[in-house]
Amino acid sequence: MAGVRYQLFRAAIEALYFSGAHRMLRPIVGGVGAILTLHHVRPARPCQFQPNRLLEVTPSFFEQVMQRLRRSGADIVSMDEVHRRLKEQEFPRRFVSVTFDDGYRDTREFAYPILKKYDVPFTVYVATSFADRVGELWWLALEAAIGHNDVIQCRIDGRECRFECRDVHDKRATFEKIHGSLRRIETEDELRNVMRDITARHRVDMAAFCNELCMDWKELAEFATDPLVTIGAHTVSHPILSKLDDNSVRSELANCRAAIEAALGTRPRHLAYPVGDRGAAGPREFKIAADLGFETAVTTRPGVIFPEHARHLAALPRISLNGNFQQPRFTDVLISGAATGLWNGFHRLNVA
Ligand SMILES: [Zn+2]
Repeated sequence: MAGVRYQLFRAAIEALYFSGAHRMLRPIVGGVGAILTLHHVRPARPCQFQPNRLLEVTPSFFEQVMQRLRRSGADIVSMDEVHRRLKEQEFPRRFVSVTFDDGYRDTREFAYPILKKYDVPFTVYVATSFADRVGELWWLALEAAIGHNDVIQCRIDGRECRFECRDVHDKRATFEKIHGSLRRIETEDELRNVMRDITARHRVDMAAFCNELCMDWKELAEFATDPLVTIGAHTVSHPILSKLDDNSVRSELANCRAAIEAALGTRPRHLAYPVGDRGAAGPREFKIAADLGFETAVTTRPGVIFPEHARHLAALPRISLNGNFQQPRFTDVLISGAATGLWNGFHRLNVA
């Protein structure tokens, strides 16, 4: 969510909150519940250059949101229960389901104690290459390369590029440019090659991010014994699925599920598409996920859940609790569905 559109979205959230309009809009846009997306939950770091900041919230913010949710009277439910309610069209009260992508250690270290305190069931979507310690968290490697260097040289689309990035302003601009170019590259292989070239030239150890940040299988196995925890699938290598051919998409989903089942003894029934926005997962991915028998699959398209999503269980929207909205009052508006209703032009389904 970049630039002007994001600024407007944020202004709309403020306006909705202060006018109380989000409560008036609820009957139209509120749906029957919401699924929350989280990535990192950890204390804020002082560094100025944090282009991936939108993927994290602080433990104290997270606790305030959980407390607010508990007080709101909504049912806080697992993804199994989301699936059941949609299948049976049974919506006694609004529901909220809490989900974490990627399988970070900070989910266990900082979010888990809070989730236990408020008795909140939650889902962790695991990319198996991260647990296997061979994954490429390239967006973090890109942040590190730019953060630690004054000049970035790389080869994109066969062209040699050079970016000066001495101060924080230039570093942000460089991240935006390279990240944007990477998203536009046609195949995932090519994207990874560009990143391997950048990390090799600028001495960033891409594998180190897995080791440092992600739970390994032993940690996941321990975690998964808690009945509050559901382990979901998040592919093997965390690719942008739209950049892969059909067979590769199928194997990313099926092999991830098989690896989790082999390691943890439970076959995941729920899936989250990596990145998950419209450019990363669309009708082809939704169909493959449904064909493979996943009960639900979540995107990062913003929106709340309507009864009609029962026919689109492989294309569920989520509400991102991200670094840009770390004020509990924003969360109320987002979960009410009013803000995402505006975002989606009041269309209830965004599944094409
Ligand atoms: Zn992810």
